[in-house]
Amino acid sequence: RPMKLFTAGPVACFPEVLEAMRIQQLSHRSKEYQELHRDTVKRLADFLLARKATVLLIPSSGTGFMEASIRNAVTPKGKVLVTVIGEFGNRYREAVERNGRVPVVLEKPLGKPVLPEELDDALRKNRDVEAVTITYNETSTGVLNPLRELAKVVKEHGKLLFVDAVSAMGAADIRVDDWGIDIVFASSQKAFGVPPGLAMAAVSEEVFEKAKSIPERGLYFDLLEIREFLVKQWSTPTTPPIPQIAGLNVALRIVEKMGGRERWLGMYAERAERIRRGVQELGLKLFAEPGYYSPTITVVYNPPGVKGPVIYEELRKRGIEIAKGYGKVKDETFRIGHMGYITSEDIDALFRNLREVLISLGFKPAA
Ligand code: PMP
Repeated sequence: RPMKLFTAGPVACFPEVLEAMRIQQLSHRSKEYQELHRDTVKRLADFLLARKATVLLIPSSGTGFMEASIRNAVTPKGKVLVTVIGEFGNRYREAVERNGRVPVVLEKPLGKPVLPEELDDALRKNRDVEAVTITYNETSTGVLNPLRELAKVVKEHGKLLFVDAVSAMGAADIRVDDWGIDIVFASSQKAFGVPPGLAMAAVSEEVFEKAKSIPERGLYFDLLEIREFLVKQWSTPTTPPIPQIAGLNVALRIVEKMGGRERWLGMYAERAERIRRGVQELGLKLFAEPGYYSPTITVVYNPPGVKGPVIYEELRKRGIEIAKGYGKVKDETFRIGHMGYITSEDIDALFRNLREVLISLGFKPAA
């Protein structure tokens, strides 16, 4: 019997998604494939409100687009303002450095978001940066950055905006055109509840224009070439993960069946609320600053005298897998992911078992 997954990703997939992936393969140059690719891109563009921006699907994990944003849209040795609120912000800083660009870092204490006035201040002090990076949902701390407000600041300063939405896309609101996002990327194995292997992004016209001025874009993540294949033949330059694309297509049809993006995002918000309530009812404390809670992952302080990895192991023995603390707070916290296919009964089972495990480890739940 598979574990009930409350992980940070990969997460449990919708049964309809798994069913749709059990297909005989088709050529990625065939009409049938092109129709699947076209329809999936269209559905994702609708979901992201990306009518001017171009939606790209490529064989990669999400990090591929992180690298692509730097290689295609920042001049070699150019500066990037990297906002860091946890481990994945640090990953972006590394992507900048390892590609020979220069990060200027705006870092916040763990558990806190970046605030618009802080970003404005950093951009006033660093007028020569070409772009700003934001981790929408910081998976290591369970903090959701106020992206809409931050995007406004970035656009006031006329900079490119790159958003790591790996653990946000599909669960947190993203309005690509309205908010002026230049690149937003994610991975299939998170909030859409699809197996890993597919990276999705929306890319603005400004990025493609900028890319034309940067000859050393590399081979695999050349966004101009990837766009060319999309425009000319609804496909990708390299072989795409066809089952994952069929899976994402079905996930987006489930969104439609549920009544559209607002309803679907509402489902995620309610689920997250229920997880936080359950955690607090046990007398446990949330790590993130109130008002900035993640819709996809809840980071919880270890109860006094109890170690997170022990909770993790005990729950595993009961058929439930949560996520261990990650990054600098790994010894203080454990994480409950709430992405993908999770039923109401699964959540009941999680809290029933978590309560019993905590009691067995000597912690007295509040209620
Ligand atoms: N950014 C964030 C915010 C993430 O949560 C993750 C994965 N946990 C990544 C980037 C890396 O994604 P991938 O493994 O799909 O490359």
